[in-house]
Amino acid sequence: MKKDYGNNNWSAIDANTVIDILHTNVVNGLSEEEVKNRLDEFGKNDLPEKKQENKFVRFLKQFDSILIYVLFFAAVVTAVLGQYFETIFILLVTLINASIGFIQENKAGKALDKIKKMLSSKAQVIRDRVRKEINATDLTIGDIVLLAPGDKVPADLRLMTADNLKIDESTLTGESVPSEKIISVLDPDTILADKTNMAFSGTAISTGTGIGIVVATGENTEIGMINKLLDEVPAITTPLIKQTAHFGKMVSIVIVVISLFVFLFGYFFRDYQTEVLLLSVIGLAVAAIPEGMPAILSIILAIGVRNMARRKAIIRHLPSVETLGAVSVIFTDKTGTLTKNEMTVKTLQTADDEFKVTGIGYIPEGMILINEEQVDLKQQSVLTRLIYCMEICNDAAISNDADGLWTVQGDPTEGALITLYRKANFEVNQAERIATIPFDSEYKYMAALTHIGGENIIFVKGAPDHLFEMVSKEQSLNGVRNFDFTYWNDKVTHLADRGQRIIGAAYKVVDSGKSDLKHEDIYDDLIFLGVAGIIDSPRREALEAIDECLKARIRVKMITGDLVNTAKAIGLEMGIGDGKRAIQGKDIEKMSDDELVMAVHEYDIFARTTPQQKLRLVNAQQLDGSICAMTGDGVNDAPALKKADVGVAMGIKGTEVAKDAAEMILVDDNFKTIVSAVEEGRRVFSNLTKTILFILPTNGAESFLIIASILFGVMIPITPVQILWINMITSITISLALAFENIEPGTMERPPRLPNTPLLSKYFIWRILFISVLIGGGTLILNMILLSRGYDADIVKTITLQVIVFSQLFHLFNCRSIRGYAFNKNFFNNKAIYVVSTILIVLQLGITYLPFMNRLFATKPLPVYDWLYPILFGLGIFFIIEIEKSIIRRIDKYKGVI
Ligand code: ADP
Ligand code: MG
Repeated sequence: MKKDYGNNNWSAIDANTVIDILHTNVVNGLSEEEVKNRLDEFGKNDLPEKKQENKFVRFLKQFDSILIYVLFFAAVVTAVLGQYFETIFILLVTLINASIGFIQENKAGKALDKIKKMLSSKAQVIRDRVRKEINATDLTIGDIVLLAPGDKVPADLRLMTADNLKIDESTLTGESVPSEKIISVLDPDTILADKTNMAFSGTAISTGTGIGIVVATGENTEIGMINKLLDEVPAITTPLIKQTAHFGKMVSIVIVVISLFVFLFGYFFRDYQTEVLLLSVIGLAVAAIPEGMPAILSIILAIGVRNMARRKAIIRHLPSVETLGAVSVIFTDKTGTLTKNEMTVKTLQTADDEFKVTGIGYIPEGMILINEEQVDLKQQSVLTRLIYCMEICNDAAISNDADGLWTVQGDPTEGALITLYRKANFEVNQAERIATIPFDSEYKYMAALTHIGGENIIFVKGAPDHLFEMVSKEQSLNGVRNFDFTYWNDKVTHLADRGQRIIGAAYKVVDSGKSDLKHEDIYDDLIFLGVAGIIDSPRREALEAIDECLKARIRVKMITGDLVNTAKAIGLEMGIGDGKRAIQGKDIEKMSDDELVMAVHEYDIFARTTPQQKLRLVNAQQLDGSICAMTGDGVNDAPALKKADVGVAMGIKGTEVAKDAAEMILVDDNFKTIVSAVEEGRRVFSNLTKTILFILPTNGAESFLIIASILFGVMIPITPVQILWINMITSITISLALAFENIEPGTMERPPRLPNTPLLSKYFIWRILFISVLIGGGTLILNMILLSRGYDADIVKTITLQVIVFSQLFHLFNCRSIRGYAFNKNFFNNKAIYVVSTILIVLQLGITYLPFMNRLFATKPLPVYDWLYPILFGLGIFFIIEIEKSIIRRIDKYKGVI
């Protein structure tokens, strides 16, 4: 029987019949036991992994680069010349290179898969009578699913309630206008796009709420059948790495041209043997190409992404790692990001009195006091109605776990109101909810049409200033009377000044036949009941993080839907704004884009905003030349998140739609995490540049050495395989240490990097050339001296190899800080450096003294005192560069850069 579940045309069947067919129940949901059976039978609610490209093909693709082509060419030439060891070694290098690339890509793919898993969608269901949040993959046929704005529909559902429910089905149908949902039975011939009583897996709720019964999961869903949900694994790259790759290509071309030129020069103007010359030119080409660089850069990036994940920031889009380092403005939500989102009602205000509420958090224990004495609720009909309104107009629930910890399911603001209701604990005629309009930051209220004691009543709760425009009367203990705007405005302002978040409540009695609820139904004649003042204390860590931003010259701007006075009060407490200046959504509305650019320059607090205004704010800030991060959680935040340079979605309270639109996700919703990510971004960027600055001079020095030798007609003091040894083995080993380099002190005290600065600044070009000539020229002179002293040619080559490698090793210490002094506080805090140095020395001893290495690399064992050359040379280079750096520091200071 169960097997037949999939064959029904659900949209043509009445919802109640669907419930019967699927043996489920609206109030109880399925039992966990039944769920288990069904999961066993129907499988998990997920889609099979998309077939990945054949591994071998992906491996072959690694060979597709100019750099590898040049190496292949070199291999062919050496083979023709009968230098088979060279051939094999060069081919080995291409193989190693491709393998590193391949492994890196796989690892990155796995890391991203893991991140994807962390991002797995959730679903709200009713099981065993209670509302639960579960992983969407654990859904099964017959589950009762609750839908809210911003959710992704987790499976195919037959709807049984739909309150103003609109679903964006563009992923499935391509239709960009959200489809309005109903629950009535449709014609059996209805096409997919018109099945308005169904909600399909993978589509997104734009507005409204609803309840649906799962009728298909996993592969059997509509999207499963076309299976286009899973994205490809993105390549691990960033603008800087792309720039480097491009740079690499240019360099390769230039090298080929120079090699050709040098060959012709040597051939016609110097009397080298053609073979020797050809080999040297190949050596030149091999020397100049930074073979190991792409691998190293992607390793650094991968480490960065991993570190960020550890610090609770999940990167969905790799280039953002770099962008993060350049962020100059952070627009942040207030509620939940700067504050704890642990809402507690503290004050209640009616037309007659002010009440205090005791208790903390969501523990439903506390008292309602009037003049410090517990109030007798039997005599407070207005107050109880106010509290009841807050409870009925509410989609949240609170519950306690085994440890007695009380938590909210749903919106924390609403959770606070439920807690209030439980504290008050009075008897009421239970109301039946007929229809609702869910809360949305756009219009800032929630309404419910209810049937209570024979009457139909609409209850509304929402932002007080919005309600003020809709009410005409107020309820007092002496009955209903005209609404006193001055009184209420005064009370609300007073509470907001104390940093409280304020929610008003109102009601109206309507026709008893009324069965649906529209916005127009509540636009007038509401009777005001009063307001609740809610506190939500600042997060300590956020306070510190804001301070850090201040030092790092990153401007923090608060965006909130709360009242301007609430925002100013909290801002002042947190160090955002001056407690006086703030701008409101309605003012933003009136501004032109140009005026808004001025406004973002001036203000740090944006209150009573709507999600649309967030988009305009980012836009204006970007026009002002800033790199912006913007936080968001709701479905309407998606455009602003996309527009921001780094869109940041909330991991806990964020909707699936917001997460999809963001570049980064905060696992803990915490502002502090954004700042940690920025810090990590700065570290990664600086390590990427340090690595480039470290690797290129080695290639430069080797090329210089070879070109100069050929031009001067002296012996070329290094062989192609020796060069490959340096470029592939020692360069990569040493620069790995830089990947683990900690953040430099002071990095978070400097202004953000300017975007679009070229990969190699003038200073970098100078530095690379300077060091290339220094090492290359120095080695050349050393060679000539050694040769004139009658050293054996192979010994000289071995010494040259050591000299270059030891220069690299010492140069590594220079590169740990681009401009700063090498012997700083940080000197010992990167263990990788010392591990790497040890490995390197072992490798160098091996290549010098192991007989088989001698044979392969044409090296000779060195007498002990000959080690003085590389060591003294390396030290010399180290000190010269330190002197250069200190001169540059002085020049910078003079120019006022630092
Ligand atoms: P934010 O989350 O940035 O503080 P919102 O737009 O969510 O801003 O909330 C703005 C105002 O809307 C709040 O100050 C409160 O008055 C009201 N409000 C918030 N949540 C609800 C809700 N669930 N139901 C009714 N009103 C609400
Ligand atoms: Mg909110």
